[in-house]
Amino acid sequence: MSKDGFSLLALFLGIVGGALLLGFVFIAYYFPIVRPGGNPGYPASREGARERTCYSNMRRILGAVEAYNMDHEIMLENLTNIDVITGGLLEKGGYLKKGISPPTPSCSYRSLGSLTGSGKIVCDVHGAVEEPLSSSR
Ligand SMILES: [Zn+2]
Repeated sequence: MSKDGFSLLALFLGIVGGALLLGFVFIAYYFPIVRPGGNPGYPASREGARERTCYSNMRRILGAVEAYNMDHEIMLENLTNIDVITGGLLEKGGYLKKGISPPTPSCSYRSLGSLTGSGKIVCDVHGAVEEPLSSSR
């Protein structure tokens, strides 16, 4: 009788233990702290990096425009994307060491307002350095 009682207890504990283990596996799978291959923070941080590259490009362009305007009697008032890419006005004049390479294919740079005054450089995707279009900064 005591032998049967022991084996029943062992069977019961085995079933309970197995159920708990399955429960933990289930919880770990459906409510992961770190789910492999699907960290939702990753794409956002990559987009953040593109945005920072874009703002850094705009600062480079603005610096090049300022240098150009110091050298020239007729200053640069307006600017389009063609002026900043490889082979553009600012690279040809030596104001940009290398043409600007946009971080995304849809990034396109242009001036907003007169660059001899309070004008600024904007990207059609990311906005201006002072007024970013996205709020992720
Ligand atoms: Zn951009």
